[in-house]
Amino acid sequence: MKLLNKKGFTLRFSISFLVIVAVLLTMLIGMISAIQVNRDSLVSSYLQSNNQYAKKLASNTGDLLTTMKQNIVSIAAIARRGNSMNTTLLDDLYQENRQYFNSIFIANENRVIQFMSSNTTGVHPGDKLTSEASRIAITSRTPFISNPYRSKSGRYIILISSPIFSQKGEYKGFVGGTIYLEEKNVLNSLLEEHFFGNGSYVFVVEKTGHLIFHPDKKRIGQAVGGNSVVQKVIAGANGSQRVTNTQHHDFFAGYAYDPISSWGIIAQTPTSVIEGPSSNLINKMLLQSLPFLILVLLMGWWVANQISRPLHTLAKFSDEATLNLGKGKSLPELRSNYYEVRLLYQSVKIAFQNINQDMSQLRDEVKMDGLTGLGNRRSFDSVMTKLTTRHTPFSMILLDIDHFKKVNDTYGHLTGDEVLKFLAGMMEDLAGDRSLNFRYGGEEFVILVKHEDTNYAFQMAERVRKILSVTKSPTGEPITISLGVATFPVHGNETEEIIMKADQALYQSKINGRNRTTLSEGVEQKEA
Ligand code: GH3
Ligand code: MG
Ligand code: MG
Repeated sequence: MKLLNKKGFTLRFSISFLVIVAVLLTMLIGMISAIQVNRDSLVSSYLQSNNQYAKKLASNTGDLLTTMKQNIVSIAAIARRGNSMNTTLLDDLYQENRQYFNSIFIANENRVIQFMSSNTTGVHPGDKLTSEASRIAITSRTPFISNPYRSKSGRYIILISSPIFSQKGEYKGFVGGTIYLEEKNVLNSLLEEHFFGNGSYVFVVEKTGHLIFHPDKKRIGQAVGGNSVVQKVIAGANGSQRVTNTQHHDFFAGYAYDPISSWGIIAQTPTSVIEGPSSNLINKMLLQSLPFLILVLLMGWWVANQISRPLHTLAKFSDEATLNLGKGKSLPELRSNYYEVRLLYQSVKIAFQNINQDMSQLRDEVKMDGLTGLGNRRSFDSVMTKLTTRHTPFSMILLDIDHFKKVNDTYGHLTGDEVLKFLAGMMEDLAGDRSLNFRYGGEEFVILVKHEDTNYAFQMAERVRKILSVTKSPTGEPITISLGVATFPVHGNETEEIIMKADQALYQSKINGRNRTTLSEGVEQKEA
């Protein structure tokens, strides 16, 4: 029988749950902040390194263009030495500068091409140049680097030029070196040198926001001025930031301005690169913290158990206590490191002991005769049943005080009671270890003797009878008793049969003159 159904949660479950949730939350928070820190440091490291890289490339580009300009200036100086210039010489000069220029030419003051390095196609000596860049070359008469433009041959190019003056200082035209932006050129060999393999790349914009270098050659010439980084870099700024480009992709961009060319160099890395490391970090952290997690969970479970086990034991015991009261079942021993648990245990233990004591007293009283303290009729019956069902040989001595009515009449009922108590005391003293004494009813008593020999019981009966007949009772006089003895299984196999036989024997003692013992069926009879 359960007094309570198990609704709600057990303490053990609640504490374990609390511990698990606390541990998992702590781990989660730790992990989130670690990922955050890791992300932040990755972001700043990408931004910084891209900025450094862009700066380095800007300075390299500036140096390169300076060198290229100087080389063109030297060629112009050679061209100035009179009429020595010819296609062969120009070709030789071109060969020396092959790494820098896609073509080299010389134009006169009317922008008509005089000499052209022989690798060039599409334009020929005698062609007149019409581009804005060639116009500036003529009018400015200083070395300069042009903006990119579509050349006469249809190529997208940059022109680096230097004026040619005669010995007398007359303007004779200019030397031009070109970079074919859409073909293999000095810029892309410089800028494509370093690729990270993580989606990072470099691009270069000129001052009006058009691409002059991009790994995707198809995009060269495109306007990308909408990109906020491009706007900043062509305004002359250096720096780094997260940016969404004109193609709607997210990047960590570093940018630097080259004042020599007025170009902006942008090095950028897709923001997705940090996702890989982040998920790696999560995996690593999970793996590393797994043993720790298991340990903490086990510890948590253990602590939960430590707290809840004694309480659970107590609760379970109390639950069943109603069934166990007075049965001598005691509270299980219990140890706990928790003060509150020990306190509770002590209280329950004391309460339970008290209840148990009260209950067992109540039970004893149910079995006991109130006046004499001997077993009562009820316990006599149950002992008899036990003995007969277990086939334990025994004898029943039934005894009755002679003329007890007269005692009551003469000395009063109270003295009569004293006599009954006195008799019970004598029985307890004389009956011995193998015997149980009962008040059968009124002034009739029983001694059950656990011994197979009828004679043994008879001897005992006689001993009690004789001693009583010479011992002063509370009346001041000895009392006499009459006794009947019957033995199981000699005189019967049933409880009732034995009682009947003993009663008949007692009756026999009475009619034979009292103060005597009769064995059942009148086998033997002894007189005082
Ligand atoms: P006999 O020798 O034939 O046994 O005579 P008796 O007077 O003992 O027999 P009887 O059975 O007639 O009387 C028993 C008396 O015992 C009657 C009753 O008042 C008395 N008695 C029974 N129980 C108690 C008791 O608890 N206290 C007292 N004082 N007397 C009791
Ligand atoms: Mg009687
Ligand atoms: Mg009597």
